Order: sequence, then structure tokens, then C-alpha cells
Amino acid sequence: MKLVENKSLTAFNTFGISVFAHFFSSFSSKDELEELLGFAPAPPLVLGGGSNILLTRDIDGLVLKNEIRGIELVHEDEEHIYVKVGAGEVWHSFVLYCLGRGWAGVENLSLIPGSVGAAPMQNIGAYGVEIKDIFHELEAYAIDEKKMYTFTCNDCEFGYRESVFKGRYKDRMIILNVTFRLNRQPVFHTAYGDIRQELEAMGVKDLSIQAVSQAVIHIRQSKLPDPKVIGNAGSFFKNPTVSSGKFEELKVSYPTIVAYPRPVGLKLAAGWLIEQCGWKGFRRGDAGCHAKQALVLVNYGHATGKEIYDLSEEILSSVNEKFGILLEREVNIF
Ligand code: FAD
Ligand code: NAP
Repeated sequence: MKLVENKSLTAFNTFGISVFAHFFSSFSSKDELEELLGFAPAPPLVLGGGSNILLTRDIDGLVLKNEIRGIELVHEDEEHIYVKVGAGEVWHSFVLYCLGRGWAGVENLSLIPGSVGAAPMQNIGAYGVEIKDIFHELEAYAIDEKKMYTFTCNDCEFGYRESVFKGRYKDRMIILNVTFRLNRQPVFHTAYGDIRQELEAMGVKDLSIQAVSQAVIHIRQSKLPDPKVIGNAGSFFKNPTVSSGKFEELKVSYPTIVAYPRPVGLKLAAGWLIEQCGWKGFRRGDAGCHAKQALVLVNYGHATGKEIYDLSEEILSSVNEKFGILLEREVNIF
């Protein structure tokens, strides 16, 4: 634990944006965190893998990288295994840990970048599974009150890429560990996206969590830019929900539009809307819209956070103009 002044954050955000933190440190325990918070007059910016942030300016305060490690089996019964995981563990390493032990539930969430501690922030999801489906509880440190709280699944108020931590507890709670409830018997979710086709192409006869994970990894590697090669933070916008009336109205002008039912209304693919506005593959300077998935904004090298943000504003405006739909950013802007 060492406090560093004027630290470059380029290596700490997957967009690869070059900004500086006035003060920077990492913590690997609650005690270290408490000691560091003593130096911070304002809430710090807590970082995991930096894969869901866009840094548009230098950070004038303290940036803390969460390095709390450890994976501990805390309870098991006939159906489930309960595993407590340090918030600083890498999410995909945890997925591999579960796959190696035959523990089911996380296979569809393979290869999502970032840390375990940030996963509940936006209830990470992919291919029809969200972490709320395997979440048991988490412990978070309340910055103002200087005390720990336990949050159950209900307390987290998980929604579509949402939770209380992205909402009313933003900048107030630091997640220190998460306990997951994994399944001894897998329940396969293969009807989503291209998973079934990929499993067929792989020649899989006996379905397994390992095969589903491999299929997900293949698909992701084939269409998503690797942040080590092209800077990005995954989907920049959330998929919007519209009323059935609005959908019927859109279908008249756009017969190929696809929608998925939600508990209330219908979900549209934001990537499709952006593509229809002509942004797919767009590039200005080093800021761009990915050629294979329009929902992903990219930094080809030296784009600034502001350039990426301005591009996102233009995309928002044009989607609103063409479809009358206001997209919401999924990425956290600083
Ligand atoms: P960071 O970017 O470090 O932080 C994100 C936010 O959480 C920030 O506001 C930060 O302050 C806060 N935060 C981080 N850690 C803590 C903590 N311990 N306590 C309190 N607050 C904290 N997301 C999906 O949901 N599904 C996907 O399929 C998916 N695919 C992706 C693919 C690519 C190529 C990329 C680059 C991103 C993708 N993402 C996806 C987005 C991202 O990986 C996830 O949101 C991930 O959970 C972010 O983790 P992180 O540790 O990098 O968070
Ligand atoms: P895709 O398979 O091309 O599908 C496009 C969109 O349609 C997705 O956003 C998905 O919504 C939706 N969709 C597809 N099949 C669906 C079904 N059977 N039921 C309901 N909705 C369906 O998407 P992709 O870009 O390759 O991504 C694949 C998965 O990985 C998606 O779940 C996506 O959310 C996730 N992913 C997330 C990020 C991120 O940063 N958040 C980045 C990359 C991939 P949903 O997004 O609601 O699932």
C-alpha cells in the first residue's frame, strides 16, 4: 500500500485513455482501505479492471485499485455451493475456477472483463444470464459511516445493467467481497444469440458447462474487440425498452426491426438502431464505432475521453432523431 502522486491511468482503463490521478493507491484488505480513506477528503474513485469506465478528465482526488483477493468455499448442500470471493479477483479467473470444479451458473458469463467486485454494480449479464441469478450476498464498506453492510439479492435491487450501487449508493459503498450460490446440476441456457450454432460448429454432442463456456468465448472473440488491441469498454449504451405501441409504429417503417419481450414493454437492440443511423465502422481521428458491433465505441490509439464522449453524444442525437428513442449510456463517465 503506497500512495503515489500524479499516476497515469492509461493502463488502468480498457479504453486506454491517457489521464492522471492526483493520488493513486491499491488496497488488499479492509484495514488498508480504511487507512487510505483517511487521506481522502472526498469519496475516492474505486477501480477494478477499468473495463466499464470512460475517463474524460484528470481525477483530482484519490483513485483506489481494489486488490482484495481470495476464493473461499463457505457452505455447501445437496444442490448448491456457496463461494465467497474477494472483490479484486478477476471475474473470468473466477469463472474458470468454477468450471474447473464443475460448479455451474457462470458459464454464460465467460470472458467478461473486469473484477468480481464490480460485477454487481451493473448486474453483469450476457447470453440470457445475469449475476443476480447466482448471487447470494455481498459485503460493502460505507464510506461515510465507516462500517460494513451485508446486502442480499433483494437489497441490491438488481435490474437490467443496474443496481443500488450504480444508483443511490453511487460513490458511497465499496464492495469488498461477493458470495455466489453455484449449482451442482447445470441448467443450460443455449437459446440465446449464436450459442446453439456455435456448439454445433464445435461438434459438441454432450452438452457441458465447459462446452457452453467455450462457445461463448469463441463468439465473443470473433465479434468483440480485444481491449489489449483496440481500446473499448464493451457496450457503450444500454438496450432500450419501448412500449408495444411504439414498437408497432417502428415496425411500419422498419419491418426488419427485432424486439425481445421484457416484463413491461419490449427490448430493442441498441446496436441495430445505431447501425441504421450509419455509425457502424465510423472513425474520426482515433475515436470510432466498432465495425463488427456498433454498440461498442473504440479508441484506436490516442483518442481522448472527451472525443469518445462527444461521439457518444452525436450517436445519441441521431438515434433520437431517427427513431424517437433516447439511448442511455451503460459505461460510467468520469
Ligand atoms: P470498473 O470499470 O473498474 O468500474 C466500473 C464501475 O464500478 C465504476 O463506477 C467503479 O467506480 C465501480 N466499482 C468498481 N469496483 C468497485 C467496488 N469494488 N466497489 C464499488 N464500486 C466499484 N458487461 C456486461 O455486463 N456484460 C458483458 O457481456 C460485458 N462484456 C464486455 C466486453 C468487453 C470487451 C468489455 C471491455 C467490457 C464488457 N462489459 C460487459 C463491461 C464490463 O466488463 C463489466 O461491467 C465489468 O463488470 C466491469 O468491471 P471492472 O472491474 O472493470 O469495473
Ligand atoms: P447479439 O447476440 O448480437 O444480440 C444483440 C442484442 O439482442 C443483444 O444486446 C441482446 O440483448 C439481444 N438478444 C439476442 N438474443 C436474445 C434473446 N434470445 N433474448 C433476449 N435478447 C436477445 O449480442 P452481442 O453484442 O453479440 O452480445 C452477446 C451477449 O453478450 C449479450 O447478452 C450482450 O448483452 C453481452 N455483451 C455485453 C457487453 C457489455 O458491455 N454490456 C459487451 C459485449 C457483449 P442483451 O444485451 O440484453 O443480452
